[in-house]
Parts: sequence; structure tokens; C-alpha cells
Amino acid sequence: MRTVYLDNNATTAVAPEVVKAMEEYFTAEYFNPSSAYDRASPAAQAIKQAREIVARFLGGVDSSEILFTSCATESLNAALFGAVRANPARRHVVTTAVEHPAVYEVCKDLARSGLDVTFLPVDRAGSLDVRAFIQALRPDTLIVAVMHANNETGVIFPVEQLARITKETDPAILFLTDATQTAGKLPLDLCGALRHVDLLAFSGHKLHAPKGVGALFVRRGTPIRPFMIGGHQEGGRRAGTENVPYIAGLARAVELAQRDHDTVETRIRRLRDRLENELLARLPCVEINGERAPRIPNTCNISVHFIEGEGMLYQLNEHGICASSGSACTSGSLEPSHVLRAMRVPFTAVHGSVRLSLGRYNTDEDVNHALDVFPDVVANLRRLSPYWDAAHDRPRPEAEAMMQGT
Ligand code: PLP
Repeated sequence: MRTVYLDNNATTAVAPEVVKAMEEYFTAEYFNPSSAYDRASPAAQAIKQAREIVARFLGGVDSSEILFTSCATESLNAALFGAVRANPARRHVVTTAVEHPAVYEVCKDLARSGLDVTFLPVDRAGSLDVRAFIQALRPDTLIVAVMHANNETGVIFPVEQLARITKETDPAILFLTDATQTAGKLPLDLCGALRHVDLLAFSGHKLHAPKGVGALFVRRGTPIRPFMIGGHQEGGRRAGTENVPYIAGLARAVELAQRDHDTVETRIRRLRDRLENELLARLPCVEINGERAPRIPNTCNISVHFIEGEGMLYQLNEHGICASSGSACTSGSLEPSHVLRAMRVPFTAVHGSVRLSLGRYNTDEDVNHALDVFPDVVANLRRLSPYWDAAHDRPRPEAEAMMQGT
């Protein structure tokens, strides 16, 4: 059976060019980059070069401002816990109600340990209210953590503006952004539009590098304490023998993302828009979550009223389509996603949401296959759905009121 992979926000296929770039560091150049003998210098050189490539990718920052980590979760944990440990006098954190658990759960943990955390709400479109953001900043605010784009809906937050406002309010407040879903999709210019951002995290496996490598940008002078201690690696700021092949792979993936950005983005956006428009045209009672906000070009989060997302995923899987019902971490659980709940997606839709996320290897044939399968899956499930029957047996205004959650 043909596999159609529409879950690129969960992970991406490792690019063949990336595999090739990694190979020699598994084989001939396996040495520990910290070793003093000459044979280890290609490994050390590979890390140095990778750091320079990632620094260029982030708008030409200094390579000493890049730390390699094992994933975005580690980068985000290191940034948040590291900031808290370095700045005990400030006890307030600002974040949003729709962050990935790598920030959301850390902030909940910080709240449990006595910090005051403001979780900013979003509106029905998934957008933040900038005025509420301004009001949330306080004299004791330590750090702001706002994601660049949401992993479930693709909604982009105005991080440039929020970081500028933060620094204008109080230059000592740190600004962290989770760019895991935007690295390779949106420009990350930390010397230009994002110059007020102090800390930025992303992960290799969302942009065709392997799972197990990530990066954290730490602007020079940012007060954070190391999260991993026990070695001198990464300037003593992230201990542990470096994963040389994966770091080389991350650098190659970043180069590919930069080289092909315009063509890949145009193609993916066209595929996503076609998929979305056709689904909206063919299916009654569906809506796109985040449609009214600016979104990254690859993500379609569709709510199909009156049926279960899990049922859809199961049947899509039977037809070789890989999709997800939220973040990779929440799928598999029947709890509605905290992101859609924060957007106040009505009851009849919150359980029937599916995320379709495209990537550089998707084709028109993939979209055709999804369009062949998806409407049939929905029709099958709706035939079995008591909610759908109930909605249909009622006069139209009542059915619509059910869809609005009123
Ligand atoms: N942040 C966002 C927005 C994500 O989408 C993800 C992964 O889904 C993460 C953080 C965590 O990334 P990693 O799996 O590399 O730890």
C-alpha cells in the first residue's frame, strides 16, 4: 500500500544529502572531538563548521552563540530552567496557553515550584492579544516564552513585535522563542527582525536532520546557568560528548533548507491550499483551525464536526495516510488538545480535529490520494455518529448553534 506522509510537524524524513554528510563521522572520523591527537581534528572541525553554518542560518549571529543539544525539548528546558537558576530575584514568567509541552509543562512545573506564571490566552483564531501581552509584563518578570509558530495549527505569533515590546518595557526581561516549527519555513534573522530575541530553540528532525539533535541560540551576555553540567563541551554551557554525525547532519539540513527555501515553500503552500480548499468544498460542517490568522505554509488543522478525530486517524491509516490529531505527544490520548481548547473550538469540533502537515517530499499525487480518501472516511464515520444524526434531525439554526458550542 502506498504511504502518504502528512505528519511533517511530528517529524520529517532524513534527507539523503544529510545521511551522506553524516556518514564519515560514523565510520572513518569516529573520534572524540575533544581528544588532543591529530586524528580527532576532523571531528572537531566538523562541529566548528556546523556551528558557523547554523550561525549564518540564524541571520549571521556569532557562532559562539550557538549551542548544540539533543532536541528542542532539551534546548527549551535548558533556556527556562537555566534562566530561572541564574536570576533568583525575578519570579514571574510570561508564556501562552498554546505552547508545546516542552515549554507549557516546564512553565507548569515552575509554577508548582513557586514562580508566578502568566499563561496568555488566545482568541478563536489562535492569535494573541498584544495589549494583554503588554499588560502581563511586570517589574519582576524574568522571562517571556512565546513560540514562533504553533505546532498544531501553524498559527504564527508576532514574535518580532513581542520581543521588541519586551525590551522597550524592560531590557532585563529575557525573551525566548520556540522556533521548532519555523526553522526552515520562516526567516530566522536574529540580527534583523528577531534582534530582540535572547534565546531561540529548534530541532533537527523537523527539517530533515535526524531525531536526537537540536540547537539553542543564546545571545551573548544572556544570564543563564548551564542545565547539563559535567564537562567542558560547548564552552562549558552544555556538557556531554558532542554527537558529531548528527551535528554535521543538522548543518547540512540547514544548508538545504536555506538553499531550497523559496521553491519548497511555494510548492508546499500550493499543495496545502489545494488540499484545504478541496476539503472545505467537498465536506459540510468542517472548519480550518487558525485559518483567520497568519500561518506557516505547510499546516492544515481541520475540524470535522460531529465525529471523532481518533476514528478518522484510524481509517486514514488503513488507507496508508499518516496524520495526527494534535501534537505528536498528545495523539494516542483521547484528551482534546490544550491548544484547541485554548482556542475555544466548540465541543462538536474539538474531538474531530486532524492535523495534516506537509513537507518537502509531498507531491500532487499525495494530495490527490488524501482527497480521494478523506471525504469517504468522514462520510463513513458520520453514518455511525449519533451527534451527526442529532444535528441533522434538528432545524438548521439549532445544528449551527451546536457547532458554535452554544
Ligand atoms: N516545540 C515544538 C513547537 C514542537 O513542535 C516540538 C515537537 O513536536 C518540540 C518543541 C519538541 O521537539 P523535540 O522533539 O525535538 O524535542
